[in-house]
Amino acid sequence: MPRLDDALWRDIMGYLRAKHGPICRQWFEQLEPDKFDGGLLDIRTETAVQQAYLQSRCREQFKEAAQQSTGKLVTVRFVHGDEPGPEATPAERNGDSRAGATVLSDDLVLQPDYSFEQFIEGPNNELAFALAQAVADRPAKAYNPLFIHGGVGLGKTHLLQAICLRILDGNPAFNIVYVSCEKFTNQFLECVRGGDFAAFRHHYRDADMLVVDDIHFLSEKERSQEEFFHTFNELHQQSKQIVLSSDAPPGEIPGLTDRLVSRFNWGVIAQVNKPSYETRVAIVRAKAALQGLEVPDEVAAYLAKRFEHNVRELEGAICTVSAHADFLGQPMTAALARKAMGDPGVEPSGRVTLQRIIDVVTDFYNVKTAELQSRRRHKSITEPRQVCMFLARQKTNLSLEEIGGHFGGRDHTTVMHSVQKIEGKVEEEPSFRAQVEQMEQRVEAALV
Ligand code: ADP
Ligand code: MG
Repeated sequence: MPRLDDALWRDIMGYLRAKHGPICRQWFEQLEPDKFDGGLLDIRTETAVQQAYLQSRCREQFKEAAQQSTGKLVTVRFVHGDEPGPEATPAERNGDSRAGATVLSDDLVLQPDYSFEQFIEGPNNELAFALAQAVADRPAKAYNPLFIHGGVGLGKTHLLQAICLRILDGNPAFNIVYVSCEKFTNQFLECVRGGDFAAFRHHYRDADMLVVDDIHFLSEKERSQEEFFHTFNELHQQSKQIVLSSDAPPGEIPGLTDRLVSRFNWGVIAQVNKPSYETRVAIVRAKAALQGLEVPDEVAAYLAKRFEHNVRELEGAICTVSAHADFLGQPMTAALARKAMGDPGVEPSGRVTLQRIIDVVTDFYNVKTAELQSRRRHKSITEPRQVCMFLARQKTNLSLEEIGGHFGGRDHTTVMHSVQKIEGKVEEEPSFRAQVEQMEQRVEAALV
């Protein structure tokens, strides 16, 4: 059987890393070229989830890499076990067949990265994380339904998929129906138009587990809610697990019928909140490691500080910074990260921003901005606060009043006193002077 030679395979993987870095994952290293025959290259994956994922998300990039490396017109196919993957993506299959007939096979593709192992636990999500694992380990025995809610980009979809991945890992034949609520609603409307509900109901009600992402999408949609109500009842009666995610708890989804609210409350409800600074740093590290990137501490700290509310944005920022570093052929530093994020750290006048000073000082002392602005007078807070005021006085055009305003509305005499205190300490203690100089240098790095 003709095979691809090793050197060509290395070329293909090298091309992918160079040209399509953001799609590359460490587990790509376990991919193996299989048959290479008549312009068709088979690539073997370790798991069926990887196969489905690569087939639907990465086929074009692999094809491009294979064509560049071999200089031939090559089509790529991902295979797992004895099953060669279909050559067409689900979207393409839908394109050339009757809408409605294939629409049901087009459930969401699982993302191999969204596993429990890749989920960073923190005080913001520990309950949801624990419950999701309990459900994955004992579907329909532990909590039914499991309802996870929280803001955008806080890991709801990740947890839903982690449940699916864990179950499929132990039992690949487990019939999981995993859809976005939007898809459910659209499929339902399609059936309403065509007047044929049999296939739709069959698909949903024969599931071993039903996972619906973003169930708040049912808001104000009466007929879809009614259909979902019956689907829910049928599955629940048969002791089939149901997992739902939403941007709000059941009772706060506008226009959701009482009977659905009550059913969503039958099992267990868990909220995911915004991650703390420490959790965000850990997430940056984990996401970078997935792509085989090493992120220096100062860059991880900078990104974790800057993106507080949405992990997806944080993740995007890692890619942006790494792309900039690659493009410029420079190491990833905090200064480069700031540039990549379009965050000048300096005023148009060429002076340092107060935010830049606060970033450097809070990072140095490992304190939070909110603490600096608070009334707390503990030394662990007063010193960084005073250093901020000292640096702000030196490096910005802000008046004493303005500086005081930024630190919890302190008056100008307090600011003056703080500045003098630091000046005195810098004079007297060489080790302290060295620390302040170090912070000054970091602040100044914004000016390059
Ligand atoms: P949601 O569905 O809540 O809007 P997602 O699950 O899509 O959010 O998460 C957005 C991105 O952030 C995903 O890439 C996900 O892997 C990542 N993410 C969010 N929270 C965590 C976490 N605690 N650990 C690791 N990755 C996370
Ligand atoms: Mg989501």
